[in-house]
Amino acid sequence: TYRALRVLKDDQGTRAELQTLPLTALPDGDVLIRVTHSSLNYKDGLAVTGRPGVLRTHPMTPGIDLAGTVLDDATGRWQPGTPVILTGWGIGERQDGGYATLARARPEWLVAQPGGTDAHWAMSVGTAGFTAMLAVMALEDQGLTPGSGEVLVTGAAGGVGSAAVALLARAGHTVVASTGRPHEDAYLRSLGASRVIGREELPGLTRPLEKERWAGVVDTVGGATLAGAYASTRTHGSLAVCGLAGGHELHATVFPLILRGVSLLGIDSVTCPVQRREAAWTRLSRDLPAPQLAAMTHTASLEDVPALAEEILAGRVRGRTVIEIS
Ligand code: NAP
Repeated sequence: TYRALRVLKDDQGTRAELQTLPLTALPDGDVLIRVTHSSLNYKDGLAVTGRPGVLRTHPMTPGIDLAGTVLDDATGRWQPGTPVILTGWGIGERQDGGYATLARARPEWLVAQPGGTDAHWAMSVGTAGFTAMLAVMALEDQGLTPGSGEVLVTGAAGGVGSAAVALLARAGHTVVASTGRPHEDAYLRSLGASRVIGREELPGLTRPLEKERWAGVVDTVGGATLAGAYASTRTHGSLAVCGLAGGHELHATVFPLILRGVSLLGIDSVTCPVQRREAAWTRLSRDLPAPQLAAMTHTASLEDVPALAEEILAGRVRGRTVIEIS
């Protein structure tokens, strides 16, 4: 048997429950993994609290990422005992995810844990940190270099935001952190922000072309925050658009695109191709080492997840939360 947090749906509604299940309850997949760690992401908050749009069927084990060791691979690609990381590809959405002591997956979904790291580190990074890395890489591919000017991070005290601040500072950029939590000023500066601005500033930038401010943007908030950041991005700057914690709409004009050559870059960690994944994880192991991650990470247990799911949706979780599974 194995233990899992299951989200169930019946006449009484949707609820999350810890269950002991037979191995036959595991989904298809050639690789069997002993899960030791998962993490809490915004999407997990939506799934565990029964918000629509994330879980495609019920019952389902949420958890969009996991780290652990391979127990068996029917294809022979992964040796038993190999430490692996799995993020995205629909786990915790379309197929059972990381909130369980065992998981099954396709071999091509897995990334080997970078040398010198462990599963706790991997899930301190998790989907959020991985996404932040993809966002920074996208901005760099688009020409962002240190000295280009201020780089903005929105939702900065959250998981993606905290990792983005740290990664950008590490790469030598001047980072401006936008947050609704002014009491986290010292925290954000400790991660490498050189300036902290309030959450209300960006939605206040409502003209099609505002004063040019940002050489690059990592946005996790969406809505009016993204619209304001977009209108105030500098000529040939770009925005890596990651999230919707503040809203999924984008009301904007084409002017920044056609008069300033601004680029809107989409980030999707779920379907990110394998080579890009490996490159991102290698760089994360170099640029976001365990001691630095510790400052932005809490650890909790599977039992804590339902309560934490409400907290992350309310914007009250700071940085990253690792979930210890077994
Ligand atoms: P998180 O830890 O909850 O961070 C979100 C942050 O957004 C909060 O900490 C808060 O930051 C800010 N925020 C929350 N509610 C807000 C509101 N109503 N208005 C303005 N700001 C608000 O979540 P996460 O796991 O980092 O994920 C962040 C976003 O990225 C989510 O929308 C998630 O779905 C998305 N995401 C996308 C991908 C992808 O592949 N594209 C991957 C991972 C995550 P402050 O307190 O600092 O203001």
